Parts: sequence; C-alpha cells; structure tokens
Amino acid sequence: MRVFIALLAAKLVRLLLRLTHRGGTALPGKVALKICPDLLSRLARDVSTVIVTGTNGKTTSCRIAEQLFAEAGIPYFANRGGANLKQGITTEFAMNANLFGRPKRQYAVIECDEAAMVQVCPEVKPKVILMTNVFSDQLDRFGDVLTTLDAIRRGMDASPDSVLCLNADCSLSASLHEKLKNKVVFYGVECPVYKEQVQENSDAPRCLRCGTEYEYSLRTYGHLGHFRCPQCGYERPHAHVAVTEIPYQGADSTRVMLRLGDVTVPAEIAVPGGYNIYNAAGAAAVGMALELDEPAILSALANFHCGFGRMEEMELNGVSARMILVKNPTGCNQALNFLANTEGDALFVVALNDRVGDGTDISWIYDADFEKLLCLGERLKGIYCVGDRGADMAVRLKYAGFPLQKLRVFGDYGSLIDALSAQSAPVVMMPTYSAMMDLRGALAQRFGLKEFWE
Ligand SMILES: [Zn+2]
Repeated sequence: MRVFIALLAAKLVRLLLRLTHRGGTALPGKVALKICPDLLSRLARDVSTVIVTGTNGKTTSCRIAEQLFAEAGIPYFANRGGANLKQGITTEFAMNANLFGRPKRQYAVIECDEAAMVQVCPEVKPKVILMTNVFSDQLDRFGDVLTTLDAIRRGMDASPDSVLCLNADCSLSASLHEKLKNKVVFYGVECPVYKEQVQENSDAPRCLRCGTEYEYSLRTYGHLGHFRCPQCGYERPHAHVAVTEIPYQGADSTRVMLRLGDVTVPAEIAVPGGYNIYNAAGAAAVGMALELDEPAILSALANFHCGFGRMEEMELNGVSARMILVKNPTGCNQALNFLANTEGDALFVVALNDRVGDGTDISWIYDADFEKLLCLGERLKGIYCVGDRGADMAVRLKYAGFPLQKLRVFGDYGSLIDALSAQSAPVVMMPTYSAMMDLRGALAQRFGLKEFWE
C-alpha cells in the first residue's frame, strides 16, 4: 500500500510539474521517499542497472552505455535530465514503474553523483558500475578528492556483486580494486591522445600508498597515464579494454584501435576529443561486463548521440555550433586541447557565471590553460565573453595575450546570438553550468531547440 501511495504521489507531482512547464526531476522522488523510505530498493530489485559515476565524462559515458542497450535491442530507461542524486534517481525508477511497483523496462543506465554513491548503490545493487575518473573539482583540495574516492568505495563495497569498470590510467580509481571483492574490468589508453602534447600539472602526483612521486612511461592528460611508484611498486594495472592506437582524430569523430580482451579491432567513436576516448573505452568495458558481443559494442561507439552540453551540435542560422560544458580546470583544459587541434576557422564563446551550480570562486580560470588557443593565430576569429563574470573572463584572455580586437564582452545572450548568427566561422561555446542553462534558454527561444529534460 505504501508503495502504491508513494508511486501515485510521485506521478502526480511529476504531472503537475509538467503541466506548469517545470522540469523538476528531484521533487517527485523526494515526495515518494517521504512516504516509502525504501522505495528505491523495492523498485530497483527487478531492474538490471548500469551506474556511471566519476568526476568528468559521466554524461557522455551514459549516452554510450545507453546505445549499448539500443544496439542490442534491449528496452531500457535512463536519468537524462541530469538529476543524479538519490531523489532524482528515485524519480526515474518511479516513472518507469506501474503503480504496483512493477518495472516497465528491465534495464537502466543511471548517472550517479560521486558523493551519492553511498546512498544509491546499496539500494540499487547495480549489475555494473562504471567509474570514469576522479579529479579535483575547481579549487577542491586533494583531501576532498580522497573523501570522494572513499564515498565511491563505500558505495561499491555495499554492492559486492556489481562488476566494476575502473580506469586503469587513473591512479586514484585503480586503487579501489585492492580494497574491494568485486569483479573488475580495467580499461585504459595505451598511446598519446593529443597530437600536441601539453604538460599539465597533475592533481594527484604522489603515490596513494607511500607518498612518493609517480614515474610515468606515458601521460595522456591530468594525472592519467601509465604511472608507477618507484618506492612501493604500486602501478597501473593491466587493462582488459584499451585504446592502443589513434589513427584519426577529426572534428566530428575519432578512429581508434580497440583491444577487447584478446582481440584488437578498429573502432569509430562518434565524438571528437581526447578525453572522449576514455569515455568510449569505459563504455566498451561496460559492454564486456554485460557480456555483449563485439559488434554491439562497436556499433554503440559509432552511433551514440552526445548529451546535453557535451559536444552537442546545433545550427544557428546556418552557422554550425557546438556546446561544451566546462566546470573545472581539468575538464576545461581537455576542451582547450581539443579546440587547439581543430582545423579551419573558429570562434569561441566563454559563458562564465559564479552561481552555486558553477562554483562561486572563478579563480580556476587562471588554472585553465587558455593560452593553448593562441596557436590558432589568424584562424581564430574571436573569443566572445558573456555571463555574470564575462568581463573577468575577458581580462583573463587579455593576460593570455589574445589581441584586444578579437575579444568582445556581451551583456546579454540576445546580442551574443545576434553577433554569432552574423558571422560565418564555426562556433564553439564553453559555458559553466548555470550559464549553459541561460544560454540554452536563449537559444531555445530564438531557434526552438528541444527542452533539455525531454
Ligand atoms: Zn608508493
């Protein structure tokens, strides 16, 4: 009876939000959990779930994992709206169940916030957990990264039957398997991911066990790579799934050689960007963990569609545009690496806010290496700054050495969109989270883009 009332309440709240054109995804779950506190575990019992967690790349990895099910013809559901805490996840399970708690689809792909893993995993008991990586967000201290890592570990520990897909190149993620009994599929990259190798500061340079500085035989980006501690011997584990070669990196896609267990095959990845090579390898590991066959894994990588704000493509009056969400220096540097390697003309937009969802301290823009874009020279048609702190962004770029005539600050999104539509160079927009909401709202008003929660 409790389950029935909780589900009825959740569905009514959702309907009400929809009728009033609000996209709230946490509230229905919140109400339902008040009525029936163990609702999530009851609903998840009969669903085989893939949970995706980690600092960067969750959304793109979820989209590829969804495509694994789509290619295999398996009906599934997913929390696409970005509500990745327990309440939002409960909403998703509730919407996929009938009023008696029976699931309408038996498979799910669920993005889960790192800190929420402790609450979500023991209830959902996922079949597979994919962890992308752990980086320090904004100005978090290293101690916070260890707290995050521990929250993820405790979540995994509470679900010992879950197969873990761990990034072998991330010294923090890879360390988890030593403390857990779960079965592990390691994935990684065994070649450089950028043509122009840029040395970045590592946010995790020292051995987790003994504090000695790691040695690297290969560094891909951030602290990711083939690490080894010269003191205690802690090193990158062997990867079961690995990208061994990258023959082609284009503006729209990437071609790689992919090792799946014992075989190495050519694979096409439907998105550009070195960091997406990791997302693809991670999702391929999920495919292995689900025991899907090789053709299904390869077509998922080639055919998936990018998530909201993750290299999402759109057209503004005939001008091609992409949106890349930036939320921390590591993520931003990967976007900049990708942009520095593009061919042809380019125009960039940086939309910077400092509201709660963005992180209120914007000094991270000085840690991100915008100087990388200087190599574009004449091909760079401009960098437009917008958002609550757009003017600060322009100052940052001025210090980077960009010519002043290429920098413009816009006070509102309407005039920015006018300026973008009036020129012809392909546009790449890099907003922080709340700026992405504003920018997308303005674009939707002008060009009628789909509302993001649909
Ligand atoms: Zn060590």
